[in-house]
Amino acid sequence: MASKRQIWVGGVPIGGGAPVAVQSMTKTETADYEATMRQIRTIADAGADLVRVAVPRDKDIDALRRIAVESPIPVIADIHFNHTLALKAIDAGAHCIRLNPGNIGGPDKVAEVARRATSARVPMRIGVNSGSLPKHLHELERESPVEALVTAAVEFVALMERLEFEDFKVSIKSTNVPNTIASNRLLAERIGYPLHLGITEAGTKWAGSLKSAVGLGTLLADGVGDTIRISLSTFHAEEEVKVAWEILKALKLRERGPVLIACPTCGRLQFDMDTVVAEIEQRLESYADPVEVAVLGCAVNGIGEASHADFGITGAKNEGLIFAHGKPLRKVPQERLVDELFAEIDRSLAIGRTEVDERKAAEGAQWLKRIEDENADELTPERLAAMEAAAARADDGDEAAAVTDALLEPRVTLGEDVSPTAGRRFTRA
Ligand code: SF4
Repeated sequence: MASKRQIWVGGVPIGGGAPVAVQSMTKTETADYEATMRQIRTIADAGADLVRVAVPRDKDIDALRRIAVESPIPVIADIHFNHTLALKAIDAGAHCIRLNPGNIGGPDKVAEVARRATSARVPMRIGVNSGSLPKHLHELERESPVEALVTAAVEFVALMERLEFEDFKVSIKSTNVPNTIASNRLLAERIGYPLHLGITEAGTKWAGSLKSAVGLGTLLADGVGDTIRISLSTFHAEEEVKVAWEILKALKLRERGPVLIACPTCGRLQFDMDTVVAEIEQRLESYADPVEVAVLGCAVNGIGEASHADFGITGAKNEGLIFAHGKPLRKVPQERLVDELFAEIDRSLAIGRTEVDERKAAEGAQWLKRIEDENADELTPERLAAMEAAAARADDGDEAAAVTDALLEPRVTLGEDVSPTAGRRFTRA
């Protein structure tokens, strides 16, 4: 269902199997060149592939002319109601024009923009919003909002094709998450053009991120969507980019920077994990490598489910353990845990492998085994999950596999070596 067609916005491919592109929109007045460029650089540093700027006035065009040249990422000019601004934005060097053919003044004006875009080889994003459907679709909208959104989008696509302009992507946006999901699924079945996904006016950082993760994540998991923008009510546009990346990383669609995994904590927690996890997350922001770092609140389960992580810590009351690739490295005092973890990460990144002090590793493994053994009967969340999985397997008649699973609950073996980082080369941001 992924779009068959591909367009290029500047040097960024959209659709046709290209990686899902991340975009955001500046919150500054575009005419304020300095402020807009500052925000574009912040957005680009956070990992945006594309940036959109609002162009509601002539004075924005003057700034756009410089921004299109100076921006480190391609710039999309966002135009509403005024087709002459679209023409001027193309002339000013915008890498893409976003417009809603329904509010730009009729097909003749759309045709004029399409002709100018063709000669400048500038693509367009044509969009449909739930709040601004054409009049003739209002009745259908009352009966079936999803069908009305898709019909509007398909009509715009047909108009562009009649104008012999096919260098565009399409967006259907709604504040309603189920309608966004249903309409984009339907649209992906009906057209082969790349799709831009977003939830309109998603809200604050907290609620908006969740709505976007549910709406966009569902579509992306289905293979629908070629570029995404997370719309959040914040002046810090880079937050939108960070959320977009977390969605793409969670779905394993793209890789960027470290992945932090942390247990949810429970009554066995013996240190201030909230603070520790927040500090680790913040310190990881300066790393570019896709290292996976795990934080476990206690050592009762051993390294267990975090054994696939590149690096990790597991804490106890006065001391904790640093581990790498499922194997203990060394015990450290609780207050040194985070600093020692980062010292280990830095050392490994610098030399491309994890060095092991056999004596310290054996001491750490012994410490871990003692805690595991002392708590062998504890029904931790992880052990309950393993038992549930085993029971489900047994219900399926696969009892032998269930018994094997239960017996294979990860345990530390004394004297085992820590694997080097298996040929991975790391660099620091
Ligand atoms: S038992 Fe599991 S959830 Fe509870 S603190 Fe330990 S690792 Fe975290």
